[in-house]
Amino acid sequence: MIKVTQIKLRLSNAYLVQGDRAILVDSGAPGEADKILQAVRDAGVAPEALTLLVHTHVHGDHVGSTAVLQQKLGMPTAYHPADQRLMDQGHNGRLPGVGLRGQVMSRFLSGSAFAQFAPDVALAEGFSLRPYGVDGVIWHTPGHTAGSVSLLLADGQAIIGDVLMGGYLGGNLRPARPNWHYFAESLPQVRQSLRRILAANPHTLYVGHGGPLPVVGNPALTAFSADGRSGI
Ligand SMILES: [Zn+2]
Repeated sequence: MIKVTQIKLRLSNAYLVQGDRAILVDSGAPGEADKILQAVRDAGVAPEALTLLVHTHVHGDHVGSTAVLQQKLGMPTAYHPADQRLMDQGHNGRLPGVGLRGQVMSRFLSGSAFAQFAPDVALAEGFSLRPYGVDGVIWHTPGHTAGSVSLLLADGQAIIGDVLMGGYLGGNLRPARPNWHYFAESLPQVRQSLRRILAANPHTLYVGHGGPLPVVGNPALTAFSADGRSGI
């Protein structure tokens, strides 16, 4: 049995994933370490027992508190090397907006700085989380960024980062409604990654903002992937 706990932060979600042992997925924006540590404790896990901090991708609202968490806990950190360019620059750079909404949001969120860190583990397609106590595997699902990854868990849950968003206004409105993220380095790649994820028949998608998105009984999601409806 794998328990996924959504940790709702100011701009984004982090996730605690508990199998035999527990890992953390993403670390929110800078300044959110304490909130994450409290959420981990509230779920009954000692933060010192976390075996890995996985990043779905290197954007400031997903890696922002990692340097602090690593300093406090010392657990290994991981991201896909295709996002090294983003880590090297230490900020989001100019975010490529998707549609009009994304172009407007890009003005506000581009350039957000974060504390850099050196990863202990390089993620790659097929990377197993088993050695870290979780029955699941990493898939390389690029598009939002070149190094975006998803966690496919053995029981049909999937954490897909910013491949999609759930709902509007950071998930405060209709959180189970699928939506393209505001930004994508390559939207065709995002579509391809989403189709690939859905072909694995997950039952629940956990996303970086809003959600979760139930797959079964969510016709909007099915239509979304089938005809590439973008809401743009
Ligand atoms: Zn992102």
